[in-house]
Amino acid sequence: LVSRENNAERSMVSVRGVPIGGGNNTVIAGPCAVETPEQTLEAARMAQAAGAALLRGGAYKPRTSPYAFQGLGEAGLKILSDVRDETGLPIVTEVVDAADVELVAGYADMLQVGTRNMQNFALLQAVGEAGRPVLLKRGMNATIEEWLMAAEYIAQRGNLDIVLCERGIRTFEKATRNTLDISAVPVAQNLSHLPVIVDPSHSGGKRELVLPLTRAALAVGADGVIIDVHPRPETALCDGPQALVEEDLPELRDMASTLTALL
Ligand code: PEP
Repeated sequence: LVSRENNAERSMVSVRGVPIGGGNNTVIAGPCAVETPEQTLEAARMAQAAGAALLRGGAYKPRTSPYAFQGLGEAGLKILSDVRDETGLPIVTEVVDAADVELVAGYADMLQVGTRNMQNFALLQAVGEAGRPVLLKRGMNATIEEWLMAAEYIAQRGNLDIVLCERGIRTFEKATRNTLDISAVPVAQNLSHLPVIVDPSHSGGKRELVLPLTRAALAVGADGVIIDVHPRPETALCDGPQALVEEDLPELRDMASTLTALL
């Protein structure tokens, strides 16, 4: 279903009217985690200043350590929904458990499946039935074929509104949090008709790498990027070191709009 053999034309996915694919460079930005109403609204305003058309923000955070901040849950979804009302930005947010899909889909415009859940088949099937577009991150240990098979689980349930997201894979390299597999973008685009975006924040894991990796993603032909921004990263409850700050926003905005103009 997701293979290009069955659909030679590349697909465009619409998230509440915002296109991903179809020649657009869509910027999704926002805080890694929803912390407070003020922080989320400030981050959403930063996202808009960077030219983002969609707001990201996690209310359910799948953390490596059980002692780390796990997200605000439904209270976080309510904050996102208020910020959408305030800014007009549709929401992309992660769901980590099949049992929560209906609840999260009640607030979200796009459901995110994170790297750690790429092969959580019950979750994939549940999001396939939720009636919302899905952002499917590549598992940090997954081959491109496994990633596309995960997309197939969603598509099989009748949902073809899927966007693939390369977010870095595990390698021996320790200088970056994950290794951005930039070649996965054209490879996945050749094998599948689905749009492919890149997460330079979770791949590099460091602020100074985010703009260079964004440039690489857009140059290689990614359909967009998803980026962490935070008004005060030093106080962030999750992944502060990779969040872009106010002064980074004009460059991000210029980069995305210049490349859109060239397409
Ligand atoms: C995220 O985008 O909030 C996230 C946790 O990403 P990943 O699943 O790629 O680690």
